[in-house]
Amino acid sequence: MHTDLVAALDIGGTKIAGALVDGHGRIQARAQRATPAQEDGETVMRAVDAVLAELTASPLWGRATAVGIGSAGPVDASTGTVSPVNVPGWRDFPLVPRVGAAAGGLPVELIGDGVAITAAEHWQGAARGHDNALCMVVSTGVGGGLVLNGALHPGPTGNAGHIGHISVDLDGDPCPCGARGCVERLASGPNIARRALADGWRPGPDGDTSAAAVADAARLGDPVAVASFERAAQALAAGIAATATLVEIDIAVVGGGVAKAGEVLFGPLRKALTDYATLSFVRRLTVVPALMGTDAGLVGAAAAALTRTAGVTAAGV
Ligand SMILES: [Zn+2]
Repeated sequence: MHTDLVAALDIGGTKIAGALVDGHGRIQARAQRATPAQEDGETVMRAVDAVLAELTASPLWGRATAVGIGSAGPVDASTGTVSPVNVPGWRDFPLVPRVGAAAGGLPVELIGDGVAITAAEHWQGAARGHDNALCMVVSTGVGGGLVLNGALHPGPTGNAGHIGHISVDLDGDPCPCGARGCVERLASGPNIARRALADGWRPGPDGDTSAAAVADAARLGDPVAVASFERAAQALAAGIAATATLVEIDIAVVGGGVAKAGEVLFGPLRKALTDYATLSFVRRLTVVPALMGTDAGLVGAAAAALTRTAGVTAAGV
């Protein structure tokens, strides 16, 4: 059976991944480079070009009909530019026209990485079959995206669903974004670890002070480690409940490195949700772990490109 093929790029502060993805979300070819994140903008772009060069050399390239990009944000889909926080050489960098030129003029769809993860979970993962969903990534930062009325809702600039920077603590600590008490400031991996250390938790003999090490301690019953995860869960629950109250989502999907803590996070998260999601129309809200693995960004970028291709086809009929 013939299936459309699209190219996908997943651009983050650590790596630039590329793939050719078929209409069933299967990866047919892939390429990857490290992100030279601290270099100048052109050097970063050369890494993107190297990934694209590998893909265009594939015998499958001729079947590709569009390129989808999921990029660390902020992105601006309305101008085709990106300004990833962790890639200082790119500020209002014209990624869409540059990728379009390198891809032989194929149409290019740009979305934020949280929106890309959401597209992947809705297409193939835990949000499949749900018309109104919030998907989140909780790791070094906290990102997210929305599915509303059965469709991905990237918003005008491609950043909608950015739950990590909703404030849930009015007088909380300053956040690098400029606000205070953001979900990310309370729930990201580095902040879970920072709070545990500040409250007296000490790492084991290996000296590991990551959130994963705090999760291990919490699993063994360390009260400070447990409390740090409970505080993170509370912040996530407040953000999820606010989102549900605004737009009536019925499922929240949580992935990323911190979600690997399993019940250490999800137990207190479900409990905290009962404290914050109280109105009749949000009480049925469920929260579940993400199902997509490390390829979620690529699969989501491909989903965005396929949607665009379908839209172009429909418009051309
Ligand atoms: Zn913030």
